[in-house]
Amino acid sequence: MSEAVVVFIALNAILAYSFYAVLVAGELSLGQAGFAALGGFTAAAWAPSPAEIGELPSLLVAIVIGMVVGSVAAIVLGLPTMHLRGVFLAIATLGFAEAVRILLINAEWTGGANGMSVPKVVTPLIAWVALALVVYWFWRQGPSSFGRALAAIREDELAARAMGIDVGRHRLAAFTAAGAIAGLYGVLWAYYVRLLAPEDFDFSRAIDGLVTAVVGGSTMWLGPLFGSGFLTMVPEVQRVIGLEANWIRPFLASLLLLLVILFLPGGLASLLPRRMVKVATAGGDLSGDRSGLITRAHPVTGEPVVAIQGGAKAYGGVHAVQGIDLSIGSGEIVGLIGPNGAGKTTLVNMISGLIAPTSGTFEVLGTEPGKTKVHKVAQAGVSRTFQHSKLFPRLSALENVLVGAHAVSRPTFLRRLLWLPGARRDEAVVIDHAARCLERVGLSDKARSYASALSYGDQRRLEIARALASDPSLLILDEPAAGMNHVEADALSELIGSLASEGLTILLIEHNVGMVMKTCSRIVVLNFGKVIAMGTPEEIMDNPVVVEAYLGGDEESEEQSVRTVHEAGHGPMEEAP
Ligand code: ATP
Repeated sequence: MSEAVVVFIALNAILAYSFYAVLVAGELSLGQAGFAALGGFTAAAWAPSPAEIGELPSLLVAIVIGMVVGSVAAIVLGLPTMHLRGVFLAIATLGFAEAVRILLINAEWTGGANGMSVPKVVTPLIAWVALALVVYWFWRQGPSSFGRALAAIREDELAARAMGIDVGRHRLAAFTAAGAIAGLYGVLWAYYVRLLAPEDFDFSRAIDGLVTAVVGGSTMWLGPLFGSGFLTMVPEVQRVIGLEANWIRPFLASLLLLLVILFLPGGLASLLPRRMVKVATAGGDLSGDRSGLITRAHPVTGEPVVAIQGGAKAYGGVHAVQGIDLSIGSGEIVGLIGPNGAGKTTLVNMISGLIAPTSGTFEVLGTEPGKTKVHKVAQAGVSRTFQHSKLFPRLSALENVLVGAHAVSRPTFLRRLLWLPGARRDEAVVIDHAARCLERVGLSDKARSYASALSYGDQRRLEIARALASDPSLLILDEPAAGMNHVEADALSELIGSLASEGLTILLIEHNVGMVMKTCSRIVVLNFGKVIAMGTPEEIMDNPVVVEAYLGGDEESEEQSVRTVHEAGHGPMEEAP
């Protein structure tokens, strides 16, 4: 194998890692060629020459300049574009890379289209040491709280926010890392190829890096290395077997990209067995050792947790919720019932900050949902499950719960990079805490299963375990018993009761009226966005307005509904008419 192939495997892998840095967070950016060009040219122009300070110091200074310039460019581009998603982000970043290329071609200090000559300093050893450092970074990042937060954002951004993750900050951090790594690539490229030209960083270079990362695997830290090894070796293999047509490599890369996306979304690296986070200890008691967790003060029993005055949400002419006055005290289990479309989910979405009210004041645990950012509301102690499961499908059950514990986890990434023992200890405590949450909902034996592989009922339970992991003060459950049989719904009812007895406040939306009656201390009934009744289960069952609006309109079905609730005490009833 020639020296060039050895070096280019490393360089192409580094470029691919600059794409991997953002793909792990679900961001599709094509600006890396621009960051690399800026890093490479500024380093080549400003770093002292090898003749002045020696080869290695000159290269090290160039690398620092290239990485700083790359990351600053990423921040400058990232700040206005981080709210963009998918193809819009890709187009915006591609536009940036093209603008940089055209500027560099037309600038004097870069030598214009002819480029700059740069001393050749990079050796295979230097290229592979640089690659090893980049790989090390991502190896340590993956299982850290930062790495898990990025994976959660990739899997379901809204759920990640509701787990207390500051999505904007994490996305920008990933983007900045991508800029720094692309800058590193630009410098290594410049100091290896000798002649640096703006055309080296065109659209096809960005696509090469992206394809390498995706083919190798964009969710596993070894992926870009695999991709680069494979794709860089293709021309070499062609040479050995005497098939030197230039079109074969790009053709194979495109074909592989298609096959990977169709049949192997995790890329070549997903063929490796995946190391799952190991469960240290377990024990359903949530009040176990929490010394490595961030603790927060919970409101004392009776203290207000939720206070809503005149809460309303309108979508155009549709008044989903209107004129809601509701307060919930600490330790209460409040049931929220009503026909389909009554506004239940809209109300809890406003309480958890996911949607802003049209009018009214919302105060929840000292925050103002709608004005306070979602992750801040979550960090204040609001945790929830969703009507339609919003788990992180490509993470294991345990990893899902670990993300749920984000708000109470101490950051570990930087300490993991330095192998500080405190990081290991803190991780062990969080894993132990997550294992306890899983045990609490009866899912200990499924800790290592992917969330997507769980049965529907287990997914509902996993969402509850994930919500419990943040040590919430207010737990919002949106139809947790949907799809559960009577036995499972009974077990869930007992779990809710025991959580409340430990001081947790619970807001429960459920169509299983029997379960609501049995579980809740107070029930709020919504219809057409308004509260039509509020009271104890007994008061609600005997309230003719509720029976009329929700439990059944005509006399016969009304009697039947009420009898079913009285007799069974549980079990799914007919949904609202
Ligand atoms: P279900 O029991 O079926 O979940 P719900 O009581 O939770 O119903 P919501 O989902 O809160 O009811 O919906 C209340 C009303 O607001 C419905 O009429 C619904 O169509 C409307 N609505 C909810 N979200 C939107 C939206 N994003 N745009 C327009 N209308 C909406």
